[in-house]
Amino acid sequence: MVDSSIVFDVAVVGGGAAGMMAAIGAASRLGIDGKVAVLEGGQRVGRKLLATGNGRCNYSNKNITAKAYNRPDFVRRIFQACSPEDIMDRFTKSGLMTEEEEGRLYPASGTASSMVDILRLLMEEKNVSVYTEFKVLTMRWDGVFRLSSPSGMVQAEKVILACGGKAAPQLGSDGSGYKLAENLGHTVTALNPGLAGVKCPAAQQRQLGLPSLNGLHVTGTVSLYRQEKLLAQEAGEILFREYGLSGIAVFQLSRYDGDLILLDLLPKYSMPDLFTELQQRAERLSGRPLEEFFTGVFQKMVGAQLMKAIHLELEDRDCGSLTKEELEALAGIIKGWPFPVEGAVGWQNAQVTLGGLDLDEFNPLTMESKILPGLYAAGEILDVDGPCGGFNLQWAWSSGLLAGWSAARSLKPRNAG
Ligand SMILES: Cc1cc2nc3c(=O)[nH]c(=O)nc-3n(C[C@H](O)[C@H](O)[C@H](O)COP(=O)(O)OP(=O)(O)OC[C@H]3O[C@@H](n4cnc5c(N)ncnc54)[C@H](O)[C@@H]3O)c2cc1C
Repeated sequence: MVDSSIVFDVAVVGGGAAGMMAAIGAASRLGIDGKVAVLEGGQRVGRKLLATGNGRCNYSNKNITAKAYNRPDFVRRIFQACSPEDIMDRFTKSGLMTEEEEGRLYPASGTASSMVDILRLLMEEKNVSVYTEFKVLTMRWDGVFRLSSPSGMVQAEKVILACGGKAAPQLGSDGSGYKLAENLGHTVTALNPGLAGVKCPAAQQRQLGLPSLNGLHVTGTVSLYRQEKLLAQEAGEILFREYGLSGIAVFQLSRYDGDLILLDLLPKYSMPDLFTELQQRAERLSGRPLEEFFTGVFQKMVGAQLMKAIHLELEDRDCGSLTKEELEALAGIIKGWPFPVEGAVGWQNAQVTLGGLDLDEFNPLTMESKILPGLYAAGEILDVDGPCGGFNLQWAWSSGLLAGWSAARSLKPRNAG
């Protein structure tokens, strides 16, 4: 139960990655006498963190650069104050053992709960008060901040908004933080689901073979077009879903408004080289049923759908019977398998929010609002997003820590530390 007569030095709204880090940063600077609270709407803190990196929490990346984010100039300033190396060092000193996979950093335990445990422990050590099931519905300022929820009221001298965005609302971030900021005069830019799969038109999903391909992974290159103009290209993992395409390579393209995806399943081959390879393969495998032509190259269902896509009749045919035209068509579909795109899947399946609180209204040296001094923001609630691979959590850690430090530093000198 919250004691509404206490005036906290710093109240952090949201107990996600950014909020917990902000609270740890503020409490470290304030020292033993500091009064820092985390107000979390859900039943526990770090719920989304547990779902990150497929439950393993890809918490950062060896190759983080500000250039990879949508607003590099702003992010660069934050990383100058709170660099990815500094964050990793802090985690290591706090007991986290890290494992690296192609630059991606994970807890060596193989589970995201280690990260939540470390953050909880640090909050406990630094005397941070954590209030769960405390969803802040209104916030006002009249010399002190007053934050109300159905379970009580909290007063604080400084507030850090770390409510996340709208992505994956089932994990707590339902966009309510934007309203709190808007009511205090802040602007919210256009919001869209990011790092999300793409949907193919419902009427074509069956014909594209998506129900049979659902759940299968391939690697290759994804090219996204709009009106036949190439918008962007990504290489990596592609996951077929009933509704369309997903996987890391597709996620990276979800910020663009395309209408067609072409998959290249063998990007290392040029078209002529692939044709020659397929021609030799047809000769080599002569006598084998045609439906086995791709055995050893692609998963069975992927091979079958490629053949279906070029309308190959398989019955009573063997690999050696493939004609030059058919081999050309097969090479063509492998290098450019078309999937019409209707749009990104909704918020439920998105990993981040594109858009958020307008950065022009925040000071990148402190994360403080230029509209209402004493108010700070950190993490996904701001208009910052990065690619897959630990970039979004890195943003949450760095912006959270800086906001926490700055909020504490702006309090009276008695608390400086
Ligand atoms: C499935 C999935 C996998 C992901 N995997 C990765 C990954 O491996 N690596 C990576 O870098 N990024 C990953 N991301 C993105 C990353 O999780 C987010 O960018 C990051 O968690 C944002 O942190 P945040 O603290 O700003 O917001 P959140 O983690 O969303 O936390 C916000 C918190 O605020 C609470 N809250 C919201 N409104 C209120 C309110 N009004 N009052 C009180 N509390 C409130 C919410 O309940 C929530 O706990 C993934 C995202 C998803 C959905």
